[in-house]
Amino acid sequence: MTAHAFTNPAAVLSALRRAAAHLVPPPDMLPSVWAEQNIRIPVGNAIPGPINFDNAPYQRGMIDVVKEPGIHQVDYMTGAQLGKTTCQQCIVGFFIAHEPCSQIFAQPSQGDMQTFIETKLQPMIDANPSIARKMAKARGREGVNNSRIKSYIGGWLMMSWAGSPKTARGRSAPKTHADEVDGMVATAEGDFVNLLDQRAASFGDQRLQTRSSTPTIKGVSRIEAGFLAGDQRRYFVPCPDCGHEQFLKWEQIHWNGRKSTGFEDADLDLHDEHEPETAVYACEECGSCWDDGTRIAAIRGAEAAGAGWRATAKPKTADHASFHAPEFLSTFRRLRDIVTSYLNKLRIGDLQSFVNVSAAETFEERGEQADPDSLLARAQASTYTSGTVPAGGLVLTAGVDMQPDRLEVEVVAWGEGEQSWQVDYQVLWGDPDAPDVWEELEELLSGTWEHESGARMPLLATCVDTGGTGGNTQSAYDWLRGKTGRRIFAVKGSGKWGDPIVRAPLRKQSGKTARKVDLFLVCADEAKLTVMRRLAVQKPGPGYCNFPRDREGEYFQQLTAEKLVTRYVKGFPVREWHKMRPRNEALDCRQYALAALKIANPSMRRAAQRLGDAVRPSEPAVAQTGGDAPSPESTKPAPVPVLPQIPQEEPQPAPAQGGRVVKTRRVLRSPKVKGGGWATRY
Ligand SMILES: [Zn+2]
Repeated sequence: MTAHAFTNPAAVLSALRRAAAHLVPPPDMLPSVWAEQNIRIPVGNAIPGPINFDNAPYQRGMIDVVKEPGIHQVDYMTGAQLGKTTCQQCIVGFFIAHEPCSQIFAQPSQGDMQTFIETKLQPMIDANPSIARKMAKARGREGVNNSRIKSYIGGWLMMSWAGSPKTARGRSAPKTHADEVDGMVATAEGDFVNLLDQRAASFGDQRLQTRSSTPTIKGVSRIEAGFLAGDQRRYFVPCPDCGHEQFLKWEQIHWNGRKSTGFEDADLDLHDEHEPETAVYACEECGSCWDDGTRIAAIRGAEAAGAGWRATAKPKTADHASFHAPEFLSTFRRLRDIVTSYLNKLRIGDLQSFVNVSAAETFEERGEQADPDSLLARAQASTYTSGTVPAGGLVLTAGVDMQPDRLEVEVVAWGEGEQSWQVDYQVLWGDPDAPDVWEELEELLSGTWEHESGARMPLLATCVDTGGTGGNTQSAYDWLRGKTGRRIFAVKGSGKWGDPIVRAPLRKQSGKTARKVDLFLVCADEAKLTVMRRLAVQKPGPGYCNFPRDREGEYFQQLTAEKLVTRYVKGFPVREWHKMRPRNEALDCRQYALAALKIANPSMRRAAQRLGDAVRPSEPAVAQTGGDAPSPESTKPAPVPVLPQIPQEEPQPAPAQGGRVVKTRRVLRSPKVKGGGWATRY
């Protein structure tokens, strides 16, 4: 065996040397040290050039945690201007070039992914030869390098996004990174973040899952849940005056004009006497005021002084680290700018953005999320039962939600300032493609309800959902056709934020010879917001919602089944309703009853007058008006023609004396005889 067996020994040696370079374990090096030696931030970023963590020393801990022994899960709950993307770039780069292994990087949407590749990842690769030379050429022999997968010696980086859970299937990788996890919504295909976790699950000690996000709404924020499950690291900074080590808090930022003590009483700052340029940080121990120079020097010197990142809680599992980094920790932001941003957001009613993006804290919805327990307690304290209309109710509307096996109907009384009283809630079981359930609905909507005065009230208007998920739209059209004159309207959810609750009808041709159906468009986002804000009104008066005392708990679970959530798409907040519970028909019914009121648009003053006229003793207009009294022996008053200009299309047939009537009779109970007053004659 001699060397002459090779025709080109020099080339063989060189090849062996290149191969051996990949067999030698990489030097044990902290990722932040590797980054400072190898990563240049491309031009076009805030601070281009070689990375130097002395500017923002908190980034070191956020990066080096990925090599901390025993850590497999890291959550970053961060605000703006903290260099979160820089940290991610360094971590991804480290696992490409220094300690190569396969990685999956996930964003909320494909667009977010493309933006990340084009503005962050590719420029970083291009600017850094130490990374670029490890990458496979596009369509080269070494592997693929396309828009979704980038191969390199020792692994690949696969891009994935929550909008398409299949992008997280197929391959497994020891390292997974998810950005803006609060913007990742569970879909019918499953929960994307869990799916992503499964990709790394089989890698044992090699496994690392990082997740980052601007937090959103308290209770639904994934990143907050992750932060709380982890060891809750906060960056401690020593006071230059007393040495007390503290993590920076919004409460400690002072300026001339601040009257609030926190976000709970932020409304106290809604005045014009602010001087943001006086903003300082006040030590929580000795009260000494740090200007920006002092604050930034204290942050930069924290680790040298023995402070810096510290766990503040025991993690649920020992392998879970978590970080909280608010914007006031940033060495790139001045307090005056942060305060100005706070005041601007507060003025336009968008405190949430500031709380999420600057304080990196979750926001507690005030008013957009009603509490089912307090509504149940409200009902239990109520003075009326379902089927009757309390004195304040002046007009009645109904909302009908269509489901594949039933219709759900709510009847609501409305008074001054749109204060509301739920009068009835019924579930009519039956397939909407068959006639029975519609007959039952007809019967219910043709009924009258007893007002506290003794008058009987018909419905002013009704909205019937036609856009159900069960594909029964045509059946709804068939039943609704020709009923507009009776103010029974077809509605469908549609529209975007800012649209009116109801928009003018589309004329919907349904069937070849059929008459057209007027289809009103209900802006579900706005209608729900109005309903939710009103449910949160605590004092009887405008907007307040009353419920009968026999209404039970499950109803209120449904009514409050959705929550307004803000998520961030490419840094912009998007408000959306998220279902917190599977059933939400009660909320839909209320939306449609509100839409019916908006379409009919009655004058409450005139409605009150008519109601008074109808029950005035001098006008004993009993029994002549029509045949819709539920039973012949009745001495009930006639239906009040609340808005007489509505043409009564045809005399309502008396309800059939069949099984269904039992339900109707429950609604149309006999009037109570009251002692004294003008109502007694009935
Ligand atoms: Zn101090």
